[in-house]
Amino acid sequence: MTMLIPDAEHDDLHLGERPLIVCDIDEVVLEFVTPFEAYLDQNGHELRPTSFRLHGNIFSRADGSETPGETVSAMLEAFFQAQDEWQTPVTEAADCLARLSAQADIVFLTAMPPRHREQRRTLLSRHGFDYPMIATESPKGPAVQTLHGARAQPVVFIDDIFVNLQSVRKHVPETLLVNLMANENFRTLAPHPGEGVAIARDWPHAEALITAHFDKAAG
Ligand SMILES: [Mg+2]
Repeated sequence: MTMLIPDAEHDDLHLGERPLIVCDIDEVVLEFVTPFEAYLDQNGHELRPTSFRLHGNIFSRADGSETPGETVSAMLEAFFQAQDEWQTPVTEAADCLARLSAQADIVFLTAMPPRHREQRRTLLSRHGFDYPMIATESPKGPAVQTLHGARAQPVVFIDDIFVNLQSVRKHVPETLLVNLMANENFRTLAPHPGEGVAIARDWPHAEALITAHFDKAAG
């Protein structure tokens, strides 16, 4: 079946008659916070997080002043423009997804602006993440709902952000929701992902949660 997700740019999507795993990218399959810290460092700034956000937690190395919001946004834009020089795969993500892809369809769902789509596609494929990708800044719940529809197969959603997990919970309540965040500093600062969400320590733990869910569904 070929489908179209509104307000999104995406690869061809052909789902089989098998379970579906919808997977976020930043902080889930590609490191984001850690390489962005390195990028800031190269540009004379540093991240000193005291809360779960970038804005307000970045400071000038020259005089210690807080980096203005518009400068942070401009650096984020430049970072994503050059992401293929900076972002690296999260430990074991590729191997775990490869094993899971033997029994499930995998689709990447990234909130990245569609203008960075080409760089991201190239970067993912370079690291063996050859699964179709959807890039949209629209809420993730409706996107998963469009993908999964009324299928009877199990569906899984993996993300680091509370809002995204709860959006999917609201629109596709039967989804196994898995919270995964690569960067340890930010993981300790993150708000609890909310009710009904399984928290994975790392990719092997996420894989175990997902295969147990599939086994249970298969009876
Ligand atoms: Mg993310």
